[in-house]
Amino acid sequence: MKIAVFPGSFDPLHKGHVEIINKATTVFDKVIVAIGENTTKQYMFGLDERLATIKKVFRNNNRVEVKTYKGLTVDFCKKENANFLVRGLRSSADFEFEKAIAHNNTAINAQVETVFFLASAETSFVTSTIVRELLRNGADVGHLI
Ligand code: ADP
Repeated sequence: MKIAVFPGSFDPLHKGHVEIINKATTVFDKVIVAIGENTTKQYMFGLDERLATIKKVFRNNNRVEVKTYKGLTVDFCKKENANFLVRGLRSSADFEFEKAIAHNNTAINAQVETVFFLASAETSFVTSTIVRELLRNGADVGHLI
């Protein structure tokens, strides 16, 4: 069984994330959406709310599981018997950043391979930072989330 972990903050989950998760479920038997708990980071949405939202969005997709984790992503992959890490790419800047993380992850755990999915033209401009900024200013975000 091919198990993949899709890690992130998902603060909040948006259409770009949903697209990557849906693409990943066409390749992997199980995709664990993993919300990283970083105690030093300030989030707009609480962990429980983010967990509940992602579960609700994917309630009809039995290949998707949603979990939270602390510590290194590669350690979480090992615990879940996942040999693949999924990341989304929006731009060449994303690629350079993700490449460094992927190489470092492989150095720690060679059993975990990072697989990238390209964002579509429609969602590549969506980021959680932009969604949060719009929400803070009372703007409508219905087209992004
Ligand atoms: P992080 O906490 O690492 O910033 P995010 O929660 O913002 O992570 O995103 C998690 C993953 O989703 C990352 O791989 C990121 O590249 C990907 N992602 C974020 N936004 C988009 C998008 N619009 N299209 C495709 N992938 C995206």
